[in-house]
Amino acid sequence: MALADIAGRMRAAEALGGRAPGSVRLIAVSKVQPLNRVEAVLAEGHRLFGENYVQEALGKWPALRDRFGPVQLHMIGPLQTNKAKVAVELFDAIHTLDRPSLAQKLAGLAQARGASPQVFVQVNTGQEPQKAGILPADLDGFLKDCRAMDLAPTGLMCIPPEAEDPAPHFAMLAAMAARNGLSGLSMGMSSDFETAIAHGATHIRVGSAIFGARTYPR
Ligand SMILES: *Cc1c(COP(=O)(O)O)cnc(C)c1O
Repeated sequence: MALADIAGRMRAAEALGGRAPGSVRLIAVSKVQPLNRVEAVLAEGHRLFGENYVQEALGKWPALRDRFGPVQLHMIGPLQTNKAKVAVELFDAIHTLDRPSLAQKLAGLAQARGASPQVFVQVNTGQEPQKAGILPADLDGFLKDCRAMDLAPTGLMCIPPEAEDPAPHFAMLAAMAARNGLSGLSMGMSSDFETAIAHGATHIRVGSAIFGARTYPR
């Protein structure tokens, strides 16, 4: 089955990269997948999932958590400020902190709740105008501003440009994380997760390779 196949490929990539076995976490990206496919992966024992849309996740996961027990949920899609409150209650981690206004919102919510999901800063490593994320040149200052608000991101996330070799983008993200003392690296998807693991990924986000093609392209 696909999940076991992915796990085997992860173990091989960890070994090849001199990484400890099991040091990379697999986020099963279940956005827009039919419920029966998600249930099948839960039934196999997997308990870490990624979603892109707050509304969709809210409609799906409370009931699945009731049925299957604790499931870790990571938000990997763009987060609107007006959905941040719902998001911090539903998700264990947010991979898409991409602007100062959202940092401010998350910092305020963390203070009010006395708890915060784990936060990753999304970096626009390809400097693509249509893509979200902090530009590489602005990252160190942005992290400083976050910490001044008592928001402590623990990692970085990127989505390399589609037509490019992802390796230099993963290497750049790893260097930026190391420079800033951040241990988390959310990088690598179905087509390139082994390359990401070679460059130090701690969290890979894999959708179609586990669940099959999504019913409509995004
Ligand atoms: C959809 C999505 C993924 C999963 O993509 P696949 O190619 O299906 O593995 C990973 N990361 C983000 C940010 C996504 O939106």
